[in-house]
Amino acid sequence: MKDSVVLISGGQDSVTTLLFAMKETSVRSLIWFDYNQKHKVERDMVDYWSKRMRIPILQGDMRLLTRFPSALTSESKNINDQHEIMGDLPASFVPGRNLFFFLWAGTICRLSGIDIIYSGVCETDYSGYPDCRMSTVKAMERTLKEGLDFDRVEIRTPLMFMDKADTFKLAYDLGYLKDIIKHTHTCYNGVRDELHDWGHGCGECPACVIRKKGYDEFLRRYSLELS
Ligand SMILES: [Zn+2]
Repeated sequence: MKDSVVLISGGQDSVTTLLFAMKETSVRSLIWFDYNQKHKVERDMVDYWSKRMRIPILQGDMRLLTRFPSALTSESKNINDQHEIMGDLPASFVPGRNLFFFLWAGTICRLSGIDIIYSGVCETDYSGYPDCRMSTVKAMERTLKEGLDFDRVEIRTPLMFMDKADTFKLAYDLGYLKDIIKHTHTCYNGVRDELHDWGHGCGECPACVIRKKGYDEFLRRYSLELS
């Protein structure tokens, strides 16, 4: 089995990607970035999966991202608004985030002799972030090959063309549906007090709406009755 690293945020997509990656590679590190996220609960989820799977966390400092406006890093911005500069995108967009993450992870991999980077980015259901698109990922992979003299590098994005319902189905097929529901965090408002059938969250922010709708669609599409 080849070695890999997984970029992890603590959300449903990146944790599902980790479980998928463990099927086909030996995951050496969970790469988690500190960019002054408002909600520390995301890191708690990463700690949980790190302990459970016995895979170490490699933490990268990305606090430079707080220089760029986003509702994910600033209390003063409303998560339901449009982005204050890039108006076609939601306020939750963090400009440059995934580009910095891939560059950092690629450099670490080059220096450690690891060829495969997994990411949970997805262009289907995900608010139209341009750095989650397949074309961006392919361009970044090419950049890593060229800029690091690293021809073997691969960025794998198993969720790229799945919607949320299919991501739930993948967790189900991998045997971790209930764990994914309980031990991942998606809510932009950081709400954890109540566990719904689709997971923790406020139920109203854009991330919760997508997750809740995806769960309902998952049950409908696959006609599943879960206990
Ligand atoms: Zn929410």
